[in-house]
Amino acid sequence: MAISRSKWDSFIKCPLCFYLLEKHQIKPPGTPGHPINSRVDALLKEEFDELRAKGEPHPIFKEYELNFIPYNGLDPETLKKYRFNRVGVRARSKKTDIEIFGALDDLWLNKDTDEIVVLDYKATSNKKLEEYTSSDKHYHKSYLRQLDFYAYLLKLNDFKVHDTGYWLICNAQDESQKTFNKKVNFKTTLLSYKLKTDYIEDSLVDLKNCLESEKMPNSGDDCDNCRWYNEKKNKEN
Ligand code: SF4
Repeated sequence: MAISRSKWDSFIKCPLCFYLLEKHQIKPPGTPGHPINSRVDALLKEEFDELRAKGEPHPIFKEYELNFIPYNGLDPETLKKYRFNRVGVRARSKKTDIEIFGALDDLWLNKDTDEIVVLDYKATSNKKLEEYTSSDKHYHKSYLRQLDFYAYLLKLNDFKVHDTGYWLICNAQDESQKTFNKKVNFKTTLLSYKLKTDYIEDSLVDLKNCLESEKMPNSGDDCDNCRWYNEKKNKEN
């Protein structure tokens, strides 16, 4: 069985939604994609690839006094696979027979320690950028798990992984921009996070038990859809 990072995350967010989809092919209510965010991701990949080819740091590393460069120890084909949603970085879980995988935005190298740096690009537009690590928003918690999962995949592939991961946040909140004129200016910020990977194997054991059970699991606390439906049903009775 193969489980992607996003499926694993959906199990943690709500075992019931995961179970209904995986076992009974009942899809949750859909949400539209994020094409502008995807475009920012694609442009950032190009920007970092240019610097990777030259072995040069990105200006944001200097701004944050980090001795990093885009990691150039992979051949371009492997990096392409690592970034491709349906392939990604793959590994066998240690406590289950599940093959886990996830697609990365990029990898950086910490030149001081010779360790791989885990990261994700994020595009947003927020007047007050929140610190993801202390936020109680469920989607911010999911950002933390995302970096944890990438770090774990890389560790299982024998990479030496730096203990701190990063989000490169592109925030469309440049207040000096007054009119649109066919462009939006972004401010870039690096947020850091101490990675945790020790809970992942146990969560995969829970995920497997959930899938093998005939009993429907409870829904998670982070989604309003079922709560809305149950409250509506209670009112009708
Ligand atoms: S609570 Fe949300 S995520 Fe969970 S089953 Fe209901 S709709 Fe799906």
